[in-house]
Amino acid sequence: MQPSEIVSPLLEWFDLNKRDLPWRQDIADPQQKAYRVWISEIMLQQTRVEAVKPYFENFLKKLPTVEKLSEVPDEELMKLWEGLGYYSRARNLKKAAGTIMTELDGMIPTDYDNLMCLSGIGPYTAGAISSIAFGKKAPAVDGNVLRVVTRLTADSSEVTDAKVKKRIEALVTEWMPKERCGDFNQALMELGATVCVPNGQPSCAKCPWQGICMAHAEGNETDYPVKAAKKKRIVEPMTVLIVQDGKKTLIHKRENRGLLAGLFEFPNLPGHISSEEALSWVCELGLSPLYVEELDPSRHIFSHKEWEMKAYRIKVSDPAVDGRIKGDSFFVDTEDAQRNYAIPSAFSAYTKYLNIRTGKERFD
Ligand code: SF4
Repeated sequence: MQPSEIVSPLLEWFDLNKRDLPWRQDIADPQQKAYRVWISEIMLQQTRVEAVKPYFENFLKKLPTVEKLSEVPDEELMKLWEGLGYYSRARNLKKAAGTIMTELDGMIPTDYDNLMCLSGIGPYTAGAISSIAFGKKAPAVDGNVLRVVTRLTADSSEVTDAKVKKRIEALVTEWMPKERCGDFNQALMELGATVCVPNGQPSCAKCPWQGICMAHAEGNETDYPVKAAKKKRIVEPMTVLIVQDGKKTLIHKRENRGLLAGLFEFPNLPGHISSEEALSWVCELGLSPLYVEELDPSRHIFSHKEWEMKAYRIKVSDPAVDGRIKGDSFFVDTEDAQRNYAIPSAFSAYTKYLNIRTGKERFD
């Protein structure tokens, strides 16, 4: 398979079929273009294009430059990211912006190696920024690209093996045309996202490579990429407590490390506890419970674990002023919670209870 058979058909296809995405706007200033590519690529990790679009537009409106990003208060940043999940991505963006402002004269590095020194930027994002914004010959190989390339070449190596990924990165770099590096990377990603798709049969009839693709010739496209069996997720049972005093709801800040670090949440306890145990926990905080209601259970799936949530909604007597609560939980009203405290989507089954008017009459 010659590079010329691969490159020209792919770029021609891309020119005709690329989606109109907000981060693909033609921006003359390479630094501004790099900023947009960077934010979009970080948002797109683990998140669908359609879901990212409104977040991207809002983020750029509120934080249009690296400088603004470096100065944004943490809580405001978390609100901008609320619902996207994997919040460490946002924290790393701010940290990297700080490094760019303090150590790099406010300039985003143009080359792959220097980009890789910034927080949260791995090989894929470094390759995307340096090739798309600065025209550098750097590969941007993610799951989409691994799938497309292993199908094209009928490569049955195990793609989760770092050595295999390195080999595919080298191959992509070899194919990459000097004058359109960024477009070539984007075309590979686009083909993987819209034609050579991960779930179900790829749309080979629409593919610019259908005449040369080895997996297509063999008729076994979906045998690639070959991946090791995934480890089973750990299931963690827990009980979520929606504690309300008639006007406000109790929330709590998570630890600054680990899963959903530093975000706000409804108080929760490990395991599935009874309503009596939930009430005695509330009493231990120095609050006086009036009613308890069991809510529908829910489940949230992270990449490596699964929360199996049972929940109670508990009304406590009115004078629940902050000073009377033991521990670091505190009461907030609906508006305050929505404006200032990002509650991760893992709790989305219960965030509606922040608006207490939607609850049963006895809670109003
Ligand atoms: Fe993927 Fe089919 Fe194109 Fe091969 S021909 S790269 S399997 S879409």
